[in-house]
Amino acid sequence: MSLKVPFWKKLEIEGMALDLLHKYESWKGVRLVPPIDIDDIVEGYLKIDLQLFDLKELLSMPDVLGATWFEDKVIRIDSSLEQKEGRLSFTMAHEIGHWWMHRPIYEMDKVTLPLFAYEEHMRPTPAVVCRSGKKKDPAEWQADQFAAMLLMPSSMVRASISTIQEHGLFPIKDLEKNRLNVAENYNLRTVARQIIQFGFSNVSIESMCYRLVDLDLVIDSKVQQGSLY
Ligand SMILES: [Zn+2]
Repeated sequence: MSLKVPFWKKLEIEGMALDLLHKYESWKGVRLVPPIDIDDIVEGYLKIDLQLFDLKELLSMPDVLGATWFEDKVIRIDSSLEQKEGRLSFTMAHEIGHWWMHRPIYEMDKVTLPLFAYEEHMRPTPAVVCRSGKKKDPAEWQADQFAAMLLMPSSMVRASISTIQEHGLFPIKDLEKNRLNVAENYNLRTVARQIIQFGFSNVSIESMCYRLVDLDLVIDSKVQQGSLY
């Protein structure tokens, strides 16, 4: 099922991701540095059962990546992601996003609609199923944003970039040329790879590319040159 969620600005989603990180940091009692230990947030702090599972078989969906059972406190990630650390962590962080942001909405709906979709015999059905091929509905977009903000907190990415680029803004050749597929830009990928070396070992190059663009930490080299005159 897809959840009906309120409209949230990126800043509000970031606030929720940082809230979780701060609470986890206090619980852990150490200052967080990358990589953000997603396993420990799920199993240690949130006490959710995390399993790698053949979800494609279980749910009969060829493109399923992860699913969260709110009622049973279980997150299952499709076992095809086991060897792909970046995608595995991102999918886990995405499911945490559903748990942290959307579970309260689900719980409220359950109270107001007790006889509709939440009857006892429906329990084996996961509350949220996340698929790669599905057109992104708002809940999915929010969970993707949350995942990026959780794995690559703005302050940590900025701190990493400032150690190699004084002004914190990277000129990238041809960035504007293919704005929709920034992760395919060779120059941006090179910078993303450099930033990942600052400890973001559970982040894919692709995710870091999107995060750098999202945080306005990169600029098309032509645009930057133009602004000098
Ligand atoms: Zn999802």
